[in-house]
Amino acid sequence: MKIVSTAVEVQAIAQEYRDNGLKIGLVPTMGWFHEGHLALMKEAGNRADKVIVSLFVNPIQFGLGEDLDNYPHDLERDCKLAEEVGVDVLYAPTKDLMYPGGFSTTVHIEGLTSGLCGADRPGHFDGVTTVVSKLFNQTLPHVAVFGEKDFQQLAVIRQLACDLDFPIEIIGHPIVREKSGLAMSSRNSYLKKDELNAALSLSEGIASGRKLALDKKEVSVQEIKKTVADVILKHPECDIDYIEVVDQATLQKCEDVTSDSMLVLAVTINKRIRLLDNSKIKGS
Ligand code: AMP
Repeated sequence: MKIVSTAVEVQAIAQEYRDNGLKIGLVPTMGWFHEGHLALMKEAGNRADKVIVSLFVNPIQFGLGEDLDNYPHDLERDCKLAEEVGVDVLYAPTKDLMYPGGFSTTVHIEGLTSGLCGADRPGHFDGVTTVVSKLFNQTLPHVAVFGEKDFQQLAVIRQLACDLDFPIEIIGHPIVREKSGLAMSSRNSYLKKDELNAALSLSEGIASGRKLALDKKEVSVQEIKKTVADVILKHPECDIDYIEVVDQATLQKCEDVTSDSMLVLAVTINKRIRLLDNSKIKGS
């Protein structure tokens, strides 16, 4: 596996792959790999000849007081894991290489970014769309794989690729979970033992909401949201940032529960650890 840190290097490698008729798959990450990341890398490997993984904790998508400075980091560990699943290039730029002095561009998407995580984290999606645009231009992928765990992010990236004519197929990968049901996340490493049950309540809440939709023929959005909230709020460690039922494509709030409705939620544990989860309400 090649490990590179500059845009020039990774772009030259990508161009050479393209010149040789090879298909490139990109997986953008912030590192501290878990099985979720590795599943995305394997998916990229199934869809492309060469896999490039970017590892960059993107400062411009973090707000003041968020966990930028504490974000878990171990390049050696991550290189080993990426290599084991057959990644060809690990691209790990520094902040200064990504945003040199004088950098002054922001990519902003309207609409999709205003609610849910966008409402709680102003500027977050501008940071995401700006860095992903750069990563697309730096790594020249044919396909790029993103996780459905960050459901709003995936919708935003699809919009980005469409609006800015990136000739890149955007693939969404289902959430990879621990046996317990907890959605895997690098941020789970912040959880202390006694916070695990609180974290588990996200997936348990979703399971209760889904069960209600299955058991009751006519179920309202309000009933679903209350059922999920009741499970989560049994844990005093949990503050609910949002629980919403949204259309899976537009992310607009649903008035009725349909087969296109997604249950999406964000919960902060002990004011420190913000976790996301989501699921279709009906079906798998
Ligand atoms: P991150 O390093 O957290 O920015 O995540 C990098 C990519 O991995 C994003 O596309 C995430 O949506 C995806 N991802 C993170 N956790 C999971 C998971 N548990 N299952 C599937 N994809 C995930």
